[in-house]
Amino acid sequence: MPPRKRATGATILAVANQKGGVAKTTSVASLGAAFAELGKRVLLVDLDAQACLTFSLGVDPDEVEESVHHVLLGQVEIGDVVVECEDGVHLVPSSIDLAGTEAVLLGRPAREYVLQTALDPVRKDYDVILIDCSPSLGVLTLNALTAANGLIIPMPCEMLSHRGVGQLLDTVADVKRFLNKKLEVVGILPTLFDGRSNHAQEVLSDVGERYDLPVLSPPIPRTVRFAEAPAVGRSILATSRTSKGAKAYREVAESLLPRV
Ligand code: ADP
Ligand code: MG
Repeated sequence: MPPRKRATGATILAVANQKGGVAKTTSVASLGAAFAELGKRVLLVDLDAQACLTFSLGVDPDEVEESVHHVLLGQVEIGDVVVECEDGVHLVPSSIDLAGTEAVLLGRPAREYVLQTALDPVRKDYDVILIDCSPSLGVLTLNALTAANGLIIPMPCEMLSHRGVGQLLDTVADVKRFLNKKLEVVGILPTLFDGRSNHAQEVLSDVGERYDLPVLSPPIPRTVRFAEAPAVGRSILATSRTSKGAKAYREVAESLLPRV
């Protein structure tokens, strides 16, 4: 594949981990809201057919007629599906149609580049674009890693959560070799952190060295507030402004500012 000329503009960060329930979607919604609070122009891309990000930002996926699925298949321009959300962020919504996208893309040339190409026209309109990946390492996640400058890996602070990180990093190495030389692992984001647990503390102190990766700080505490936020279509930064979870996401976003 010849080198492609990239559009300039927003820093694109993929949030991925092929394990479910590690707080990918929560992190995308919360970091997105935090960047918006910091005055950044933010676009969030829901790349999961379960459309949890879309739902949690107050958009009913069942009512979405044209979604990221249609964008990836080249049927509509990305700008035509972008929704403005109350959290001050823009969203490329998902819908159940996305469940069939991979099957169609598999028969197409340059299938790993379709998201990057779709984002190019709007990249100049944003400072940061966050991509919420599905719990798999399929073609859609490869698209996210190909479009991205950086990867954030949310990981709960439990031993079993390590399983699969090696495989994810192997995929990153392949993406760097074949698809996107510039992809950089920004770091592991420790999530669902219980500061009272010795085990969680041990996992937190070991994980960076184990994978030779930066660990973003502070860890995101486990708090019941997160379960409540999606029900009202806002992130925890709006529903629970001063909670320790909201504060932690704000601090992580601030630490990422030099990149965006
Ligand atoms: P993923 O996108 O990786 O599958 P989610 O962001 O959907 O993960 O989170 C999985 C579940 O964990 C959700 O019910 C969410 O509300 C909850 N959750 C996420 N972060 C926290 C947290 N810091 N404390 C408590 N619950 C959380
Ligand atoms: Mg999710």
